[in-house]
Amino acid sequence: MNQTPQDKSPLYETYARAPLAFERGEGVWLETRDGRRFMDLAGGIAVNLLGHAHPHLVSALTDQAQKLWHTSNLYEIPGQRRLAERLAANTFADRAFFTNSGAEALECAIKTARRYHHVSGHPERYRIITFEGAFHGRTLATIAAGGQAKYLEGFGPKVEGFDQLAFGDHEALREAAAGPEVAAILIEPIQGEGGIRSVPPQCLVGLRELCDEHGLLLIYDEVQTGVGRTGRFYSYEHSGAAPDIMASAKGIGGGFPMGVCLATDEAAKGMTPGTHGTTYGGNPLAMAVSNAVLDVVLEDGFLKEVRRKALFFKQSLASLADRYPDVVETIRGEGLLIGLKMQVPNYEMIGALRAEGVVAAPAGDNVVRLLPPLIITEDEIRAAMERIEAAAAALSTPAQRASA
Ligand SMILES: *Cc1c(COP(=O)(O)O)cnc(C)c1O
Repeated sequence: MNQTPQDKSPLYETYARAPLAFERGEGVWLETRDGRRFMDLAGGIAVNLLGHAHPHLVSALTDQAQKLWHTSNLYEIPGQRRLAERLAANTFADRAFFTNSGAEALECAIKTARRYHHVSGHPERYRIITFEGAFHGRTLATIAAGGQAKYLEGFGPKVEGFDQLAFGDHEALREAAAGPEVAAILIEPIQGEGGIRSVPPQCLVGLRELCDEHGLLLIYDEVQTGVGRTGRFYSYEHSGAAPDIMASAKGIGGGFPMGVCLATDEAAKGMTPGTHGTTYGGNPLAMAVSNAVLDVVLEDGFLKEVRRKALFFKQSLASLADRYPDVVETIRGEGLLIGLKMQVPNYEMIGALRAEGVVAAPAGDNVVRLLPPLIITEDEIRAAMERIEAAAAALSTPAQRASA
């Protein structure tokens, strides 16, 4: 049901929600109760990796739902072991800890890094270097890691041990990394919420070298960039610089809430029995869905096709930016993690897109994010381009902009 602002809702007022309620979805399409159809280029903020109601995911979830929902981590969960083995086989990692969200995956990553130094005889090494514009979640530790004043204000003392540096300040980084209390460097290979800001591959290689030089652990936050979103299974593959610890979530559950912290054997050596836990993390339902997501994403040729379609989409958008330079400044991103750096306020573009039947997500730095499902077809990209072009044209007319 569409809610008007004057409706009194018992929900926390933490979100300024759009007056839209979707009832069903299929592939790239979303439908409201009153039958309006939208192309979903937000994907529930990079979550619905394979679109809505993907038949393989639906059957994995419903099959599991008939059998067993939850047992707790006091017992073996075969789906966890299978998923961990597949993640290990396809990444740098040897070990996995499953969670219910991205923030919890980051909490595990932070704890893993601190414990590593603790059991290595360096309990004084607990500080973590992070970067301006980062987003790592909304728990008390992850807002401290993200360092954004607007998320920290009013929540008491900031959790100790996070030192934030300017994006791209190599000098400051070299100096900070040499500090005697530093445990790790935490970075998103491409900042998502921060505005689809890519870290150049050679900088990730540089970070890897810096970590090795000073005995620090390198932690990637691939919550938004992981599981094929950028055209590689994980985006660090574009650089070849592997981390020691990595957080993954969002797309890995295809819409089912789940996340994972991955680590090498060495980095995870402090995480011994009793040091960490979760009631729900890795439950059978989540494992069934996530294994089904990997069935699709790891299929031969799937990611190659994602890269091909992404190139087509980006070229089409670049041509649009050329034709509407007063609306779109540049196109950013990798694979199907696409950012439109806007000339007009990003929320105006999001409104214009919605009027054309397209759902998109905002990001920092005045960016509109397009996060289509990886199964989007070239025809659907063409259909999306027609709508995006209509939205850009609407904003490009000065008379219409004045009345908006
Ligand atoms: C969304 C996001 C998170 C937080 O994930 P939640 O599931 O909302 O806790 C952390 N890091 C990045 C890069 C994200 O995009």
